[in-house]
Amino acid sequence: MMAMLDHIPLRGQLKFNEPMQRHTSWRVGGNVDRFYQPADIDDLVNFLRQVEPNEPLHWLGLGSNILVRDGGLRGTAIALFGVMDEMHLLSNGVVEVEAGVSCARLARYCAKHGLVGAEFFAGIPGTVGGALAMNAGAYGGETWPKVLSVETIDRYGQRHRRTPADFEISYRSVVNDREEWFVSSQFELAAGDSEASSQKIKQLLRQRAETQPLSLPSCGSVFRNPVNDHAARLIEASGLKGYRVGGASVSEQHANFIVNDSNAMASDIEQLIADVSDTVFVDHGVRLQPEVRVVGEVIEGPAHD
Ligand SMILES: Cc1cc2nc3c(=O)[nH]c(=O)nc-3n(C[C@H](O)[C@H](O)[C@H](O)COP(=O)(O)OP(=O)(O)OC[C@H]3O[C@@H](n4cnc5c(N)ncnc54)[C@H](O)[C@@H]3O)c2cc1C
Repeated sequence: MMAMLDHIPLRGQLKFNEPMQRHTSWRVGGNVDRFYQPADIDDLVNFLRQVEPNEPLHWLGLGSNILVRDGGLRGTAIALFGVMDEMHLLSNGVVEVEAGVSCARLARYCAKHGLVGAEFFAGIPGTVGGALAMNAGAYGGETWPKVLSVETIDRYGQRHRRTPADFEISYRSVVNDREEWFVSSQFELAAGDSEASSQKIKQLLRQRAETQPLSLPSCGSVFRNPVNDHAARLIEASGLKGYRVGGASVSEQHANFIVNDSNAMASDIEQLIADVSDTVFVDHGVRLQPEVRVVGEVIEGPAHD
């Protein structure tokens, strides 16, 4: 995996055969061949310069929107959460955030500094990198309308400054043809009342706790909402709440959540996604599109102990 270069020693953490169930919010998934947590941006650049050109790279935030199959991932996962997690308020009121910062921290930081409009991030259990990749959003707020620019990195360790105009951005979708990943972002937010922003965060978190099954492993909403409708409404109307495959079921509390409530395999969840999609299509003529990203290899038989 590492090219034979006369290279600078790595300062991050490299693990082999790392179980992805430790790094995904569904708590499922087989092993990844190599798992790297860079010490910082310079170490990430150094790491990428040493990686073979054909090594598959899988970028990971908090794993709150991916289903890793039971056969795991070939190649290297690069995990930024908890390591590239610096945040600064620039003199022009712009917040510069590294991709490993959690969305919750970003929301609190903005509120504390009297910047409003980032409250919706508070309950999204992912990183800024994941939010940029997914155009994450909630309660009327969305990631990309707040972005002034981002910094990306390519597989050779080259860094690039990009603006929103460089991407095709839509609802829960960001198309980036250049094989580049996010390392930081500059968010532009309006000045406002710090206390009101903190109160709004509390209220949004309460609202979430009342409507979402937060005590069980999940990936949040599994399907994108179809235009002018809600995936949860269609799934519920098909009578699928509580529908189960193996250790996974459609949440009784929120029909667009699939919960791992009984030691599920990734294959249980994937089958459940397919069954829900097929049933809704037969009943309503709408083909639901998964929001969750499914990656990795299928295996026959048990994947984890
Ligand atoms: C309980 C719960 C509630 C949720 N509520 C919401 C919600 O309200 N709104 C919403 O939008 N989502 C929600 N989600 C889904 C999820 O939290 C978001 O999609 C989040 O943005 C994913 O961030 P992450 O860091 O966990 O990304 P991951 O799951 O680690 O990765 C998701 C995708 O982004 C890519 N990626 C990650 N980091 C980078 C990077 N630095 N550069 C390039 N690509 C990268 C990954 O390769 C992968 O394809 C919820 C999930 C849960 C479990």
